[in-house]
Formats: sequence, structure tokens, C-alpha cells
Amino acid sequence: MPVSPALAYGCRYSCANASPLRHLLISTLLHHHKRTVSAAAHSAIITSLFFSPFFPKSNFLTGNTLFSRMEQFWSGSGVNKNKGMVENLQRYGVITSQKVAEVMETVDRALFVPDGAPAYVDSPMPIGYNATISAPHMHATCLQLLEKNLQPGMHALDVGSGTGYLTACFALMVGPQGRAVGVEHIPELASSSIENIQKSAAAPLLKDGSLSVHVGDGRQGWPEFSPYDAIHVGAAAPEIPQPLIDQLKPGGRMVIPVGNIFQDLKVVDKKSDGSISVRTETSVRYVPLTSREAQLRGY
Ligand code: SAH
Repeated sequence: MPVSPALAYGCRYSCANASPLRHLLISTLLHHHKRTVSAAAHSAIITSLFFSPFFPKSNFLTGNTLFSRMEQFWSGSGVNKNKGMVENLQRYGVITSQKVAEVMETVDRALFVPDGAPAYVDSPMPIGYNATISAPHMHATCLQLLEKNLQPGMHALDVGSGTGYLTACFALMVGPQGRAVGVEHIPELASSSIENIQKSAAAPLLKDGSLSVHVGDGRQGWPEFSPYDAIHVGAAAPEIPQPLIDQLKPGGRMVIPVGNIFQDLKVVDKKSDGSISVRTETSVRYVPLTSREAQLRGY
């Protein structure tokens, strides 16, 4: 069975058991690029991308040649506005929720990417300090997975908040009666995320204190505003940190990439009796959830 070679670094990549929605996106990409490879060739591509000694580290952190084809696909179709980006994500079945579409339209991605970066391309972008802003389709996927746990008045934690983009989206969804908390361990990124948010539609929530960004090790969560209805982790953990499970409210949901080279986006639900269920949503590629020192020396 043909599978797409579209491997999206820092984001979801296609896999044989992809959902119908994903197939729609994948087949569109395939059609667009007229690239079809066998499953064996696909895995060889992935393996060589991950393990090639010639694969430069900077590239490893920011994208790859297959991904840049996907990038050309998006930019080639004239996506130059935030609304257009959201419409494309809807058109290809990545965004199915009206609420998520609205919030992504409201928070202009251009305010969160580094100056001069192509803001509306469906690609992760380097933001310095060996970190990336996730691709729009990954932000959309995580918002959709958490939507029911981002109702007005709820508490949301964004671990590895980076640019602050998702923290801002969370804040708009939970509203002034709720709490959106970002935790980022690179102080410079935390400060610039606050500047980004100040320019965005979420600025009033930052001002009134329902949105806050903190410098800290996100593996410890942020107990002050726990328990959380929603926890998002924007970096891949070798295993799910126990403090995050502990800070999840009964009925709460956490979305977290887990793994090292091969990673899965896990959906962790805490039931009302406190028991936990974990399922795999899709295969992904994120930067590691690690110590500040390890990140700054390049992992
Ligand atoms: N979701 C964000 C950033 C993704 S990159 C965005 O899209 O903008 C992952 C982020 O996690 C980086 O900013 C990195 O500095 C941060 N990070 C990695 N390990 C961390 C840790 N232990 N505690 C807090 N932040 C961490």
C-alpha cells in the first residue's frame, strides 16, 4: 500500500495506520507532489533521515528536504495570511472544529514567529536556543484534542511554551475566568513569548492575570494553579512525568509527545476515579523535554 514520504520534522508525520483525515491530507500532498513510495521505501527514508551521519543537526531541528516539499506546497498555493492558513488546514481536514478555527484565526501566528520567517507556512521554525515553534497543523491537532478541556473557566498548562502561541490560544479558549499557564525553561524565550502575547489578541488576558508565563522546569509542572483540565507538552519526554499526571484534574486530559527518536503523541485521560488511560494519537517529531543545559549544548 502506498504511503506518503511526507515526514514533517517537529510535527506529525504520516504513518501506515493514519486516520482518514490524515489520509486526506497525505493523499492531497501525494497528489500534489506525485510522489508515492512503498512502505519499505518509506521506512528506509525515515531511517536514513534519522540516522544519516550526514544529516546536519540544524536541519534535524528545523525540517528536512521532504518537509520542505510540503512547505513549497503550502507557500505555492498562495497562503500568505493567517486566515488563509486556517482555511487550508480546514480544507485538508486538519481542523474540523469551528472553535479551533476561530481561535487560530484570532491569534495571528506572525506575531509569534521570528522576524522575517514565513509565518503562515505549515512548518516548524527555529526560534533559537535549539527550539522550534511547532507547525500550524500540530498546534491545530493539539487544540482539537484538548478542546473539551479548554472550556471557559477551565485551567490549562502549556509545558515548553516556547513562543507562547499555544498558551495564547489556550487563554482565549478558557477566558478571563479560566487560567492559562505557560512554563518555559529558557528565560529569554519566556520573555520574548510575553512580548509576543502582548501584541496579540490574548494581551488583555495577560494583563488581567488569567494568562501567565513562568520560567521553570516544566517536567515539574506548575503546582500553583493545579489541578489542570488540560495539559499540553510541547517537547518530547522519554516518559510521562509523574508530576504532570499528579497535576491533572480527574476528567482532565494531557497531550504529550513521548519517545526519543521515534515519538508518539499520547493522549492521557484521567478518569473521575483518578485512574489513567493512555492512547497513541499519531507519530510525531518534537525537540526533547530535557534540562536547560542539555538543550543549550544541543542535546
Ligand atoms: N510549543 C511551543 C514550543 C515548542 S519547542 C511553540 O510552538 O512555540 C519546545 C519548547 O520546550 C522549547 O521552547 C524548549 O525550550 C522547551 N522545553 C524543553 N524542555 C523543557 C523543560 N524541561 N521545561 C520547560 N520547557 C522546556
